Amino acid sequence: MSECLFCKIIAKTIPSKVIYEDEDIFVFHDINPCAEVHFLLIPKLHLTNMLELQNDQLHILLMGKLMVKANQLAIELGLANGYKTLVNTGVNGGQEVYHLHIHVFGNK
Ligand code: 5GP
Ligand code: ZN
Repeated sequence: MSECLFCKIIAKTIPSKVIYEDEDIFVFHDINPCAEVHFLLIPKLHLTNMLELQNDQLHILLMGKLMVKANQLAIELGLANGYKTLVNTGVNGGQEVYHLHIHVFGNK
């Protein structure tokens, strides 16, 4: 079993408030929200962060899928007037959990 916190959340050995899940991606509420709505989208494939991204079809499709789902869920959760997205990457990017994730947050 992976030591990665978000891999454990995907495996549901650590509970989370799940918003959406399919074969490729997992979406859940941030445990420490910085706005009325704050959720995280992650690939099920363990990628440490964006520094690992390659110019191949898998990564391109995965990132596209995450962004399209980010927008769809933001609208469904009440953020149709707009929202912020954030991807912290590496030490200088202030990343705390080393499994690639996209933050979506905003107020209704
Ligand atoms: P980072 O700084 O790495 O971009 O953000 C990590 C995010 O993960 C933070 O916003 C933090 O609140 C969230 N987080 C950390 N641990 C957990 C957890 O166990 N469950 C959930 N749902 N979110 C977490
Ligand atoms: Zn992981």
